[in-house]
Amino acid sequence: MGDILSTIFSALDNGNLRTGLERSVRNLAPASIRALDTWPYLVELAEHVRKVKEEVFQNIDYYIDETMKSVRRCAGHAYLAKSPDEVKRIVDDIIGDGRKLIVKAKSMVTEEIQLREHLIAKGHEVYETDLGELLIQLSGGKPMHAIAPAIHITKEEAARLLKKIDPDVRDDMSIEELTARVRLFLREKFIKADVGISGANSIAADSGAIFLISNEGNIRNSTNLPPVLISITGVEKIMPTMKDAFFQALVQSGYAGLYPPTYLSVIAGPSSTADIEYHRVYGVHGAKEMHVILYDGGRRKALKDEHLWEQLLCLRCGRCQAECPIWDLVGNTWGGRVYGGPMGIGWTAIIEGIDKAAPLAMFCLGCRKCREVCPSKIDMPSIIRYIKSKF
Ligand code: SF4
Repeated sequence: MGDILSTIFSALDNGNLRTGLERSVRNLAPASIRALDTWPYLVELAEHVRKVKEEVFQNIDYYIDETMKSVRRCAGHAYLAKSPDEVKRIVDDIIGDGRKLIVKAKSMVTEEIQLREHLIAKGHEVYETDLGELLIQLSGGKPMHAIAPAIHITKEEAARLLKKIDPDVRDDMSIEELTARVRLFLREKFIKADVGISGANSIAADSGAIFLISNEGNIRNSTNLPPVLISITGVEKIMPTMKDAFFQALVQSGYAGLYPPTYLSVIAGPSSTADIEYHRVYGVHGAKEMHVILYDGGRRKALKDEHLWEQLLCLRCGRCQAECPIWDLVGNTWGGRVYGGPMGIGWTAIIEGIDKAAPLAMFCLGCRKCREVCPSKIDMPSIIRYIKSKF
């Protein structure tokens, strides 16, 4: 408890963090409200997605099995990994020997696994390609929000960090100029990369297709240009059909206030052609190999818990964080190793254990705003109350 208190107090004293949060928080909630006002069908889709996910959760092993069969039908490779170590072993086997250049799309699951750190320790050259996540990589910190990881980093701090990869970056550059420098830097990495790694916003059991949303365009480059693509997703992201997987991706994007998404990628297997004599060849302009790793990481155990199961309905839109009076002050410094804010209490209990989550839960005021704005209507106040009871 003492550790958490001192982390929170030093966050309150951190002028940069407070300024960054203040500047960003004032834009987050209005963007989501605007999206739901403009496209009210998103609210209906969110209700539908919750119902479908509940049905998937009751038959999770069946859906995992179906998803893996579907990935293989599309000439992909499918794996089920129970722990971070299993994921790392699978990824190491795929990547093989020698130092590789790896480009990564933002993925909270890979944060759970600490995959980037593992790959760098193995001697690979690894770059996060989401601008916010690249700033997190350069800062050595942790993502501060599910969708906008560098929400707490000011323009001045961003310039200081980007100088580490680009000596031409100057303190007085505008946000537009900083973005242009990153575009230039990463362009070469995308083209030369040996391996691309992504998460998934959704995966469809009936087809093995993964759905990925991006506004920067980095996900398309990370998943399309390298010859080998590895996509890692939590088993709770499985939806029965392409249609439902599409809906899940739309709902996440809408509630995050980034609607319509600039890019929605649907990837079902490696790129291929049958244009010469109708003979199928894999590896044309996109990936030559696609590997899909379904990650358990405590999720199936949590599905059996009468309180924690509901947190797995979470789409990681970050809407609850923007609404929380505590998170608005200190961001994800109020959280576990990966997740923070209202959603972070339940997720920390799932991936790190209730013992780790219980002291964090004690800081919740019980205002219930998180539940009101959540697309899945997750009863986070009850989950947090339950976790508090274990303190
Ligand atoms: S708990 Fe709900 S509001 Fe919070 S990130 Fe998850 S889906 Fe979004």
